[in-house]
Amino acid sequence: MSSTARLTWLRIRLAFVGISVTLGVVACGSVAVQPMPTATSDGPLVEQLTGEVSDARAMKHLQALQKIADEHGGNRAAGTPGFDASVEYVVGVLRDAGFKASTPTFDASGDDDEDPSVPQRNVIAQTRTGDADHVVMIGAHLDSVEDGPGIVDNGSGVASLLEIATQLGADPSVQNTVRFAFFGDEENGAVGSNGYLEGLSANDRKKIKLYLNVDMVASPNGGYFVQGGKPGSWWRRLRWGSDPETVGPAGSATIGRVLADQLSKTGVTTPEMIEFVGDDESPFIEARIPVGGAESGDEEEKTTQQAKAWGGQAGKPYDPCYHEACDRVDNVNRDLLNHYLRALAGALAHFATSTAELR
Ligand SMILES: [Zn+2]
Repeated sequence: MSSTARLTWLRIRLAFVGISVTLGVVACGSVAVQPMPTATSDGPLVEQLTGEVSDARAMKHLQALQKIADEHGGNRAAGTPGFDASVEYVVGVLRDAGFKASTPTFDASGDDDEDPSVPQRNVIAQTRTGDADHVVMIGAHLDSVEDGPGIVDNGSGVASLLEIATQLGADPSVQNTVRFAFFGDEENGAVGSNGYLEGLSANDRKKIKLYLNVDMVASPNGGYFVQGGKPGSWWRRLRWGSDPETVGPAGSATIGRVLADQLSKTGVTTPEMIEFVGDDESPFIEARIPVGGAESGDEEEKTTQQAKAWGGQAGKPYDPCYHEACDRVDNVNRDLLNHYLRALAGALAHFATSTAELR
């Protein structure tokens, strides 16, 4: 390349570097200070439901699940009497709230043809009102690991759904049908949620307009994490990529935004958007159903910045009892549970009223 050409080329390159640095700075600038966009105003159902749900009643469900684990060898793991008793408990609460609860089975025998077929149960209940071709779904896994009673993981999710279902009732005035799911065998790899979607016809899968996953919402040293899409700028898109497994199908960002907005409205400082990690939302992502998720953190350590924003201890796990025998009722962070309960009620009511934003 000639010297003048090289000189010209050098100028072009410098100019280009100049542009990208500027863009980078602008982008970095925008990433750091970009506030969470606020969602549309809340309708009457959001106000009503967020006002009615109570963490005190949710705690009663956690105490009941603890008692079940204590009476069944210390756990509520898939395929155990502790899990079956948990199913009966959830069905009982839903029926008392006026729902027709069903317990569709799924095969939990895994891939090896040698394994005998092991039918296990999910629990499903939905409102009698709302458009049944337009279903808004929320779910939490009901099983624990074998090493402990699973009160934060995931009794806290189950208790939140039971309290929301009880306050909503089976005949609310809603535009869209609301469906509650309590999945089995999540701890062995989202087996129950996979079995649930596989058990539906393609047409029935299409009727599910969104799925909100709730897995651990009361970690003792927890945080406010929301899953769903990608907030903000091209810079983040560049950084995170757009793999549906981690960001969710189109529409997931709207679910994440609405849930984060509802958390902020309960007084939480800037919920953090995180990627999906392969919980019960995975089969819904595979089915191209928009998804969102709420979780308060497990064995990873809280950062200094997070401790400043949300309280708690930096450098310590969000839940030191994660998957341990000590994951009992006294491991529950009531304050976190209270914020998440109201935010989940708000987000569910928001989409039970309208899913227009998802389109
Ligand atoms: Zn879990």
